[in-house]
Amino acid sequence: MDNQKFDVIIIGGGAAGLFAAAQLPGNLSIGILESNDRVGKKLLATGNGKCNLTNLDMNIVHYNKPNVVEDFLDRFDAHDSIAFFEKLGLITKVSDKRVYPYSECASSVLDVLRRAVERNGVVVCTSHTVNNIESFNERFNVGGVFKQEGKPNEAFCYTADHVVLATGSAATFGRDSTSLFKVFGHTVRQPVPSLCPIRTDKEPLKGLQGVRVKAGIRIGYRYEVGEVLFKEFGLSGIAAFNMSGEIARGRAKAGDMLTVDFMPEYSKAEVESIFRKRDNGRQTVKELLVGTFHSKVQERIIWAAGCNEDDRAAGKIGVLANAIKNYRFNIEGLGDASLAQVMSGGLNPREFDENLMSLKVKNAYAIGEALDIDGDCGGYNLQWAWSSARAAALSIAKNAL
Ligand SMILES: Cc1cc2nc3c(=O)[nH]c(=O)nc-3n(C[C@H](O)[C@H](O)[C@H](O)COP(=O)(O)OP(=O)(O)OC[C@H]3O[C@@H](n4cnc5c(N)ncnc54)[C@H](O)[C@@H]3O)c2cc1C
Repeated sequence: MDNQKFDVIIIGGGAAGLFAAAQLPGNLSIGILESNDRVGKKLLATGNGKCNLTNLDMNIVHYNKPNVVEDFLDRFDAHDSIAFFEKLGLITKVSDKRVYPYSECASSVLDVLRRAVERNGVVVCTSHTVNNIESFNERFNVGGVFKQEGKPNEAFCYTADHVVLATGSAATFGRDSTSLFKVFGHTVRQPVPSLCPIRTDKEPLKGLQGVRVKAGIRIGYRYEVGEVLFKEFGLSGIAAFNMSGEIARGRAKAGDMLTVDFMPEYSKAEVESIFRKRDNGRQTVKELLVGTFHSKVQERIIWAAGCNEDDRAAGKIGVLANAIKNYRFNIEGLGDASLAQVMSGGLNPREFDENLMSLKVKNAYAIGEALDIDGDCGGYNLQWAWSSARAAALSIAKNAL
């Protein structure tokens, strides 16, 4: 296994690593070193197994570092990703601006990427975990451990002219290998889970566990409407996942307030007006709310409004509307990495050039989630994987001429 020589070694056979390998010129010798026993494991889990591979609303506000991402998206955007995948044989479809494979199977995306990598003559080394990189005379020694079921571990050390760190993050199924670039003097913002459930105080959750609603979530000035799922520890669902970024990016913290809006289509004045029209003057609070909300939600709105269900509704409509529009939680923190879709943090992108080559060591690149770039739910993280991989691949191709 020792002393294999490559033009390019890509560490990590996930979304970004495979995409880069598919984009590199086939006349280069390219190796992918992947610690799992197969490539693209996380990719298979994306979009609930359907893989939301990009989004037609590719607005930079969906990222933690819009100014960094903008230039990469200008050079390779959602339409470029779709065109590239279609060239590989993937038919796509769009649902509410989110782009999926027509098959609605993440495996279709992985299949076309693997075929492209194979056609490009890339050597894919699975069960290879890299644990050190050395730079010498503008080349790299990449060393680690090859593990095979039922056999003793073997050390490996390969050399390459270019090295690409595409190791992703520790979010679900992943591992954090950003320390491999610390030896070059790169700094890392400590990754924290993002796109994950939000832990809250337990009192407002009582009785709501397992209830799923379409609602708004507000933290500070940010407001997001979507699915909210109440869990025993806090809030899950797409709206909660997207709002978790506010905490991961340090814009909100434990102790801050989060409110749920159970009637996001209406203003508070409109909610009051709806219930005033409905009230016949003799109804109880409970009778007034029946038919509008899940029975558990109804009970908790009455509780949050400080009412009893047998109270006369007349005179309580203002407090009920307030509880409906601003059902309060206190934030306790974020769910753990095993529940997260991405981590917020990683290698500082400012320490890399416009093609993601290290400003500290020539010909060392970092792409995808290993960098401190994260986006909202909706295909933004995979688009970053594609756009960053593309930039690095073009730069390597140019340098290797
Ligand atoms: C459940 C889930 C659902 C998601 N759904 C979506 C979605 O629908 N749309 C979207 O845009 N994003 C989604 N994401 C996020 C998206 O999957 C990631 O942002 C994206 O995969 C990052 O790509 P990457 O190549 O940087 O990292 P990864 O895809 O994680 O690949 C990194 C690879 O590097 C390997 N590796 C790590 N360290 C080493 C090492 N030392 N040696 C060798 N190999 C190593 C890992 O095993 C892994 O295979 C989802 C994530 C999860 C967990």
